[in-house]
Amino acid sequence: MAYDADVIVIGAGLAGLVATAELAAAGRSVILLDQEPEQSIGGQAHWSFGGLFLVDSPEQRRMRVRDSRDLALQDWLGTAGFDRPEDHWPRRWAEAYVDFAAGEKRAWLHRLGVRFFPVVGWAERGGYGATGHGNSVPRFHITWGTGPGLVEPFERRVREGVARGLVSARFRHRVTGLGRTGGAVDTVSGEVLEPSGAPRGTASSREVTGAFEYRAQAVVVTSGGIGGNHELVRAQWPERLGTPPEHMLSGVPAHVDGLMLGIAEAVGAHHVNRDRMWHYTEGIENWDPIWARHGIRILPGPSSLWLDALGRRLPVPLFPGFDTLGTLEHIMRTGHDHTWFVLDQRIIGKEFALSGSEQNPDLTGRSVRDVIGRARTDVPAPVRAFMEKGADFVVERDLSALVRGMNALTGEPLVDEAALRREIVARDREIANPFTKDLQVTAIRGARRYLGDRLIRTAAPHRLLDPKAGPLIAVRLRVLTRKSLGGLATDLSSRVLTAEGEPLPGLYAAGEAAGFGGGGVHGYRALEGTFLGGCLFSGRAAGRAAARAVA
Ligand SMILES: Cc1cc2nc3c(=O)[nH]c(=O)nc-3n(C[C@H](O)[C@H](O)[C@H](O)COP(=O)(O)OP(=O)(O)OC[C@H]3O[C@@H](n4cnc5c(N)ncnc54)[C@H](O)[C@@H]3O)c2cc1C
Repeated sequence: MAYDADVIVIGAGLAGLVATAELAAAGRSVILLDQEPEQSIGGQAHWSFGGLFLVDSPEQRRMRVRDSRDLALQDWLGTAGFDRPEDHWPRRWAEAYVDFAAGEKRAWLHRLGVRFFPVVGWAERGGYGATGHGNSVPRFHITWGTGPGLVEPFERRVREGVARGLVSARFRHRVTGLGRTGGAVDTVSGEVLEPSGAPRGTASSREVTGAFEYRAQAVVVTSGGIGGNHELVRAQWPERLGTPPEHMLSGVPAHVDGLMLGIAEAVGAHHVNRDRMWHYTEGIENWDPIWARHGIRILPGPSSLWLDALGRRLPVPLFPGFDTLGTLEHIMRTGHDHTWFVLDQRIIGKEFALSGSEQNPDLTGRSVRDVIGRARTDVPAPVRAFMEKGADFVVERDLSALVRGMNALTGEPLVDEAALRREIVARDREIANPFTKDLQVTAIRGARRYLGDRLIRTAAPHRLLDPKAGPLIAVRLRVLTRKSLGGLATDLSSRVLTAEGEPLPGLYAAGEAAGFGGGGVHGYRALEGTFLGGCLFSGRAAGRAAARAVA
């Protein structure tokens, strides 16, 4: 039977674009399918902040950060906590990925025209022992141009492939089945959806106008994770994280529906580590939503006081930006879905970054003038907009009014003003205490020793009740779904494996659908900025391996 192309790639997100670009560069013909309209090309990566995990980079060195491949691997393994037989390939991927991040990753991207913001961020700081969870040093490199800046070179290469007649991009093609001939996966079938002018990121119609079936020598699944499908997130929610929250925000568009994973399973692929997921605890409702239940993640500096729903401080070391899943686990034990940041204008102005390309017009638009302008304003415009219009924000001059506002927002008198005042007064007293037993105050002082934090991420320690730092602000935080850490099991060539650990002939997977490599390169937890890089690395491996296989 004749083939329609050498390779079919399912999903035009970052991983699919990278794989397609590699295939076209090797001279292979590709059919690239996506259920969304063309204007949504790039998938989640378009919306992303563009944060990339790099190790021992020139940007780090300029910021006086000493990093190494060995330290990064120690951090990765301490964070991942690999402990299952299924972790054989994820661990191998982790080692290869750290080598990539410490080796050719930056130079490869640089050659493609990708540049980085000079101040390196420090995400997931850990707070446990040296071999435990977290980044020992800052490693979060923000792409100049954020997510769109990272998608750009790969989209360009794919469009060049289209112009050369090698790539046929077919949007509104929704895959519903995979088929095998003589054991090898070679058939992709599905529904053609009606044309859609839905703006990027918004839900497009699922009205079916036809059917398709294509055949190729190899098929690459790059369909993303499950974060937009709350039913699936709840069904796969691990016991160790308690009961899934009743109310969750969505950190991803609706097309991140996870359905393709079941379709791959039906043809023999092994879907592993599905209970491992990466959701954020600092979600706020977007006052100007693009997709349903659209939540924005705050990337916080370390100074906000983090309180549970009853106004009690979260335990050490669950400070803002230290341990995402440790915090989630704790919250789900409190019996409430929400927590609070209590802070002041001085802190919000310096320490709130909002994740998402559209929330950072200065970096996304590559405007040096606007970036400098942001550093000079009291509160950056996108954050100011949330203070003024966000449903989760309470802004008041004094603590009594703030607590009244917090209780009014939840409709229950859960926070006791006297208890909170006692806590804040005691915390404020520690600011003048050079010794202090308050480890958050120690952490703030530690952060300020890093030039990058001192410049743009950590406010100078001060009393929260100092009127000059006000007004006071309380932000209600909710759980926001984002990434699947598990996925289709793959070997280092991105070949999909069966439950017996054998390659399933013809089938490859990359990006979030493959747990960013191996079916879960992160293990239980992530160091951040590792997802986009995981798409680049596994998408490239899939494209190169499939190109070799169909030669
Ligand atoms: C707001 C935001 C900020 C982020 N910030 C960062 C960051 O700073 N650093 C970082 O490392 N990561 C970040 N991420 C995560 C990262 O962007 C994603 O994990 C990554 O882009 C996933 O890419 P992907 O190609 O695997 O999947 P996706 O981008 O989800 O693309 C999958 C594509 O497959 C298509 N598809 C799915 N099923 C089918 C089907 N059955 N038939 C046809 N097509 C199908 C979808 O329509 C979609 O276009 C962020 C994500 C978001 C949303």
